[in-house]
Amino acid sequence: MERIYVGMGSNLAAPVEQLRSAVEALAQLPRTALVGVSTFYQSDSLLPGQPRYTNAVTALDSTLAPLELLDALQAIEIDQGRERHERWGPRTLDLDILLFGNRLIDESRLKVPHYHLQARAFVLYPLAELAPADLQLADGRHLHELLAACPFVGLERLPQT
Ligand code: ATP
Ligand code: CA
Ligand code: CA
Repeated sequence: MERIYVGMGSNLAAPVEQLRSAVEALAQLPRTALVGVSTFYQSDSLLPGQPRYTNAVTALDSTLAPLELLDALQAIEIDQGRERHERWGPRTLDLDILLFGNRLIDESRLKVPHYHLQARAFVLYPLAELAPADLQLADGRHLHELLAACPFVGLERLPQT
């Protein structure tokens, strides 16, 4: 059993509902328990001309292999209407594996820790709600160092409903 953190994002077709549906789908995954959901955050798109994003992080305990989990996450994205056009285009649902236990994964389809983790406040702050304060990534970096270098700017924490 490994502790996995999955980042969720949406900026199309009722993003809050998209994330809620995704949480339900994650809770149904085989050999997997959903053990935490962060609050939801909104922020402007990093690219101009796109709707605002809603993001959150979930914690899972699973015995799925990393690529099995990636397949399952991509199936959920497709179920919720994800279409891939331009890179970083608007999307109904994006599910990224942020951390997978203490593993460093460098495969063509899967890089873990997620390569942009450190640059994204909308990933780091919800992750910090769920992870232990002293979390160390598989590559040796500490979550608190990444947070200290990534200001809480442009993020709006949504009230829990
Ligand atoms: P970004 O990767 O910058 O967050 P994105 O999420 O919009 O961008 P996608 O189009 O969703 O990018 O994914 C492109 C590919 O990234 C996927 O097909 C998948 O194989 C690969 N990938 C590599 N590492 C990961 C990871 N840790 N989690 C999810 N997908 C990953
Ligand atoms: Ca992403
Ligand atoms: Ca993705």
